[in-house]
Amino acid sequence: MEPEPARPPSAGLTAGPRADRRPATVAIAAGRGPHQPGTPLNVPPVLASVTRIGDPAVHGPYEYGRDGNPTWTALEEVLGELEGGTAVTFASGIAAIAAVLATVQVGGTVVAPDDAYTGARALLEDLAARRVLRQVLVDIADTEAVLTACQGADLLWVETPTNPLLAIADLDALVAGAHAAGVRVAVDSTFATPLNQRPLAHGADLVVHSATKLIAGHSDVLLGAVVATDPDLLAAVTRRRLLDGAVPGPFEAWLALRGLRTLPLRLDRAQANAGVLADRLAELPGVGGVRYPGRATGQAAARVAAQMRGHGTIVSFDLADAPTADRACAAVRLIAHATSLGGVETTMERRNRQPGEEAVPAGLVRVSVGCEDVEDLWDDLRSAVATAVGGP
Ligand SMILES: *Cc1c(COP(=O)(O)O)cnc(C)c1O
Repeated sequence: MEPEPARPPSAGLTAGPRADRRPATVAIAAGRGPHQPGTPLNVPPVLASVTRIGDPAVHGPYEYGRDGNPTWTALEEVLGELEGGTAVTFASGIAAIAAVLATVQVGGTVVAPDDAYTGARALLEDLAARRVLRQVLVDIADTEAVLTACQGADLLWVETPTNPLLAIADLDALVAGAHAAGVRVAVDSTFATPLNQRPLAHGADLVVHSATKLIAGHSDVLLGAVVATDPDLLAAVTRRRLLDGAVPGPFEAWLALRGLRTLPLRLDRAQANAGVLADRLAELPGVGGVRYPGRATGQAAARVAAQMRGHGTIVSFDLADAPTADRACAAVRLIAHATSLGGVETTMERRNRQPGEEAVPAGLVRVSVGCEDVEDLWDDLRSAVATAVGGP
C-alpha cells in the first residue's frame, strides 16, 4: 500500500494547530484546542447541561447542553478532519441516520441497498409505512440498477462495504450518476472507518458513522456522527439533533474520542488479523465461502482498490446451515458469541438469527475481528468450526 499523502487542513470549530498531517497523526493531535500553557492536554468530559452565557466567538457555542458541549466539539474536530469535512455527533449511529433521512422532504424518495444495515432498513420501512418517505431498495453493487432507481429520487443511501454481506458499491460512479440526476448521496462508512475510505473525497454529500463500532472501539459506548461540507446540510442535521434531542452524552463523547486516538493502531492490527483468518477459513473443510474485501475478485476487487486503503475487520463465512453455524457460535471459547462489531475483542454471530436479516444465508457467520494474537483466534475458530461441522 502506498504511504498516505498529507491532507489539506480542514476548518475546525475551534482554533488549534493545523498542518498537513497524515491520518494517524490527526487521530492523536486534533481536537485538543490551542497550545496554551496551563490547559489540560485532553478536553475533559464536560458534564454540564448549563454553561454561563458568554461571547460565542470567544467562549464557544455553549449555553445549553442540547445545543453544544466542548467534549462533542473535540470529538467532532478529529472526525471532521479525518473525513475532510465538519462532523456533527449524535446519540447513536441510527440517530445520525435518522437526521440524514430527515433532510429529505416528506413524500420524497430514498434509494437504499436491499442489504443495508438492518437498523437502517427498519427505519426506512417505518418511514415508508407512515408515508413520510418512499423507499426503493436496490442491489447497491449493481450501479446501473441503482442509477435507474435514482431517476426522480431525492437521496441515494449507500452503504459500502455492506453489513454483513460485504458488497462493495462503486462510489465514483454512483456519486457522478446520482448527482447528474439531481440526487444527493449519503454513505454509511461504518465498516471502513475514516482511515480506510473517505466518501467526501469521492464527491458524496454526507458520511455517516456508527462510532459505536470501530471508532470508539471498546464495546462500551453508543455514538454516531454525520460528516459533510455543505453548510446548508450541516445546518439541517445540526438542527435535527437539537429538535429531536438525539444528543450524545458528554461522557460517551469523551470515551469515543479516547477510543478514536488509537483507531489507527487498532485498525492496523485487527485488519491484519482479519486478512489471515479470511484466507485460512477459505481453506477450512465445511466452510462454503468467505466474504472479505481483501478477497474480492473482478469488479468488486477493482472498486476496493480504487476507494479503500485497507480491507477492514469484518469477515463473513458460510457454513452449511443454521444448526451448523449455531454449533460453531456455541463452541468458541476465546471469541465471544455476541452481536455488534468493531471492538478490540473478537465477536461472532450467525447473522440470520436477527429479525430483518432473512435475506442473509441461514448459515452465514459474521466475525468482527479484534486485536488478540491471531494464532489464538485461529485455534479457537478452527476448532469451533471443526466441532460444528462434525455434527451434533
Ligand atoms: C451498527 C451500525 C449502525 C447503527 O449504529 P448504532 O450506533 O448501533 O445506532 C449503522 N450502520 C452500520 C453499518 C452499523 O454496523
